[in-house]
Amino acid sequence: MKISEGCNHRCSFCIIPSIRGDLVSRRPDAILREAEKLIEAGTKELLVISQDTSAYGVDIRHQPRMWKGEEVRAHMTDLSRELGKLGAWVRLHYVYPYPHVDQVIPLMAEGLVLPYLDIPFQHASPKVLRSMKRPANEAKVLERLRSWRLIVPDMAVRSSFVVGFPGETEEDFQYLLTWLEEAQLDRVGAFKFEPVSGAAANTLPDPVPEEVKQERYDRVMEISARISAEKLAAKVGKTIEVLIDRVDEVPPPEEGADRGHFDAPHPQHHHGIGATGRSKADAPEIDGEVHLRDAGHLSPGDIVSVKVEDSDEHDLFGVPA
Ligand code: SF4
Repeated sequence: MKISEGCNHRCSFCIIPSIRGDLVSRRPDAILREAEKLIEAGTKELLVISQDTSAYGVDIRHQPRMWKGEEVRAHMTDLSRELGKLGAWVRLHYVYPYPHVDQVIPLMAEGLVLPYLDIPFQHASPKVLRSMKRPANEAKVLERLRSWRLIVPDMAVRSSFVVGFPGETEEDFQYLLTWLEEAQLDRVGAFKFEPVSGAAANTLPDPVPEEVKQERYDRVMEISARISAEKLAAKVGKTIEVLIDRVDEVPPPEEGADRGHFDAPHPQHHHGIGATGRSKADAPEIDGEVHLRDAGHLSPGDIVSVKVEDSDEHDLFGVPA
């Protein structure tokens, strides 16, 4: 669900504000009405998107509107709470860590909003962030992450990072790696900086050579894959909720083939009906999946308890509990 268009920031690598203009927020009652209709039609999960979800309503001065007999402000906290009351999974994307995001964390603890935040940090070095002109670029973000996890221990954080931004030194890059070790993010996407026609960053001095960008990219991905694998491995043996996306036939393994994660102790589990879904920590298409065996009784859209049996760098493997 798109809650606004445009953006008031001017990140130096981005041309979205010049294409889409400044932030224009939708009315909260219009968003909630649309969400309600989607849920009535069978939608199980709402993906809240915008260029900057934390800035929702700034342009309309957080003006309240009536919704079900009560005033709801055009504000991220109010909107998230009301969306959560509609009963579907609510997943927040593109959240910048402004101080008021602290108010959304208790909604996760209450189960109204998924314990998931997609925060596009892009870098950690204060110098690079300044040069990128990134919003909510404050030094205390690691402390905030820590305090959020005290309230919502199973909160999953996804982020994306740019390596090889003009002027990024080995020292800046090392800062990012150390930061990643401390932040323990669940999911990380990385990109090598590429100039976009019309972006201010194109005129910045000290471009990073392609081979250095590649090498930094590989190092970020290596650390992130390890952290992701460790965090997923910690879920083995636990029971989690999974939203089923598809149900499919698992063919019997060929003679002598590695049965991989379905190498279960019970012979009848080698093939049959499997299903693929996502946990609360997995946004569709960008995060991992949960692969289920013995799932013939399930249908897409079901939300089921799953005992996690195995994990790899991206995905979990389990069986309906
Ligand atoms: S990258 Fe920066 S300028 Fe571009 S849309 Fe996101 S917050 Fe706005």
